[in-house]
Amino acid sequence: MLLPADPSQNRPDQRSTGMTELEFLPVPPADLDRIRCNGHDDFGNQLVVRSVGPGAPLRCCLTLSRDGDQLALIAYRPSSLGGPYAEVGPVFVHADECPGYSGSSFPADFADRRAVLRPYDAAGLMLDGVLAEPGESEGELKRLFDDPSVAVVQVRNVIAGCWNFSVRRQVA
Ligand SMILES: [Zn+2]
Repeated sequence: MLLPADPSQNRPDQRSTGMTELEFLPVPPADLDRIRCNGHDDFGNQLVVRSVGPGAPLRCCLTLSRDGDQLALIAYRPSSLGGPYAEVGPVFVHADECPGYSGSSFPADFADRRAVLRPYDAAGLMLDGVLAEPGESEGELKRLFDDPSVAVVQVRNVIAGCWNFSVRRQVA
């Protein structure tokens, strides 16, 4: 586990502007491969394949499930930094290999959902969050990243608070 970094060693990139390109991060394919191969998630929960119908947010390919999709509900910790803010929570993923998500644009299936946007600094400490109405998440994200102390933003469900995906500045 990484120790929280000394904030003085993480001087924000002063070149960042409102033009910053963003990167949208699902559960990484390597994590999915390991979990699917093990037959359990990283917290010991057995993979139970189920069909939950349409509309479940999938954190493997950042789409909403369709009728007949075979899914697994896993416990996942989206932050690898550790520390008190590195929460573990339930997320749906495809039970079998799927195309994943490599887009540099906001995932279309998530654009018209309400969302909580939670910014974190480079040490993994949570900063002030935002409640985004349908259609507002992308604009609110760009606004949050105008703050150079914001390293990562987690997009989460409003009611249950479950993590949907993370966003960071694209590395040039
Ligand atoms: Zn998927």
